Amino acid sequence: MKRYRIREEMNGITEPPGKVWFWELEAGVIHADRCIECGTCVAVCPSNSIGIDEDTNLPELVKMCTGCSLCWDFCPRGGLRYEALWPPSTPSVGEDAEVLPAQVRSDSSDTYWKITGGPPADGLGAVVESFAVRASSRLEDVQDGGAVSALLIGLLAAGEIDGALVSKPSADPDEQWKGVATIATTADEIRAASGSFYNQTMALAELDLSRYKLPAKPRIAVVGTPCEVQGLRAMQARRWPTGAHRIDAVVLSIALMCTKNFDYEALTLRELRDKRGVDLDRVSKMDVIRGRMIVEYRDGELAVDEPVKDFHGAALKGCDECADFLGRSADIAVGSVGSMDGWTSVLVRTERGRLAFQAARAKLDVRGLDDPAALLRLDALDKKIANRSLQRKLDPDAPLFIDFEEHVRSYEGTDRQPVFIRH
Ligand SMILES: Cc1cc2nc3c(=O)[nH]c(=O)nc-3n(C[C@H](O)[C@H](O)[C@H](O)COP(=O)(O)OP(=O)(O)OC[C@H]3O[C@@H](n4cnc5c(N)ncnc54)[C@H](O)[C@@H]3O)c2cc1C
Ligand code: SF4
Ligand code: SF4
Repeated sequence: MKRYRIREEMNGITEPPGKVWFWELEAGVIHADRCIECGTCVAVCPSNSIGIDEDTNLPELVKMCTGCSLCWDFCPRGGLRYEALWPPSTPSVGEDAEVLPAQVRSDSSDTYWKITGGPPADGLGAVVESFAVRASSRLEDVQDGGAVSALLIGLLAAGEIDGALVSKPSADPDEQWKGVATIATTADEIRAASGSFYNQTMALAELDLSRYKLPAKPRIAVVGTPCEVQGLRAMQARRWPTGAHRIDAVVLSIALMCTKNFDYEALTLRELRDKRGVDLDRVSKMDVIRGRMIVEYRDGELAVDEPVKDFHGAALKGCDECADFLGRSADIAVGSVGSMDGWTSVLVRTERGRLAFQAARAKLDVRGLDDPAALLRLDALDKKIANRSLQRKLDPDAPLFIDFEEHVRSYEGTDRQPVFIRH
């Protein structure tokens, strides 16, 4: 037929070289159980051909793939593979390491730096300033000091951002304690999204801002796990359009320090609700701290206090490969380790981060970090696990999990302290 003439003429033409299709990402990452549900592939696809499978929360093809290779190139478990740039044979931060003087490097023009957050063995990475921070006015249901929520509220009030990509509780009553990605545009929405959710949300897929009421040139802060910030930074370093997703709108990235995240059903429904009888209606807080999974009820009763290794089966397998606990590529990295209870450890990593922190300063109580060395120690443990994970590719029988007690014992007889200790 005449209208198919061009296609017919193309039949038999050899495929152009250099094509990488979604199916290769599917085979190498998604079906290989290595996907860490960051949403980068959805956000980077120029033809908006990748969506999210509602049942599995994993990427799926929803339209024709053009073989452009971007989903593979930018996937933190695919072509991006920042950990491949971190040779496992090179000791990064040894357990004997002293706290290195903060390495001052503001926004670098080096693409490697932007994508990976810097080379190994660089202590805490790029740090312009570091603090222990808490919200100056009390905020309900925050995870630690409420620094992230207060910072975002301050930036909104100062007119520095129009919204923030955060995680709010799912509205589905069958999905209690599940975080879902959202763009919060008011202080109330930021407050409603405070606290940590122990599931990945395919966050970057939410950067299709078309369903939100925002100015034509919106300015968005992104809060995410370090792997999400890696995907974001990689996309920011590539100055070409990315379809419906507004990478150009992101003016600030805040990484939540992270050693592992979980599959929602496996952790919250199977392990906590079904196996341990946790009443999800009564839960006030979940935390992974000092190598333990802690779940508290609103009346103060401790529902769960167990080694986090007991929940390893519910963690995302792709997290085993991750060595970026410290959110090295973000403008600001935050965590609980390194500060007293009720405070958030904050590493301001770039000039952009410093200006944002200053703009929201009135909303924050600020003092020095209590125990910066604790950050290095947890980073060292995280890298050890990633190292073993890479070794297991050569020897599948090698043990992966590093027992927390074993790790603590390795400090006996030394003047050092184990990880997770907070004063
Ligand atoms: C999965 C996970 C693992 C973590 N592991 C560690 C750790 O091992 N050691 C450590 O020191 N700190 C860890 N953190 C960080 C810590 O739990 C706090 O998020 C951090 O200290 C900030 O506390 P805050 O009170 O300032 O934040 P809040 O003011 O409570 O704000 C937290 C912000 O993070 C957003 N958020 C919550 N969950 C997610 C999510 N899953 N994805 C994207 N955004 C989210 C919220 O929407 C909110 O905007 C982890 C966080 C997460 C989500
Ligand atoms: S790890 Fe991220 S980029 Fe890779 S397949 Fe999963 S969601 Fe996509
Ligand atoms: S452990 Fe690494 S890969 Fe897993 S959610 Fe955290 S930052 Fe992402």
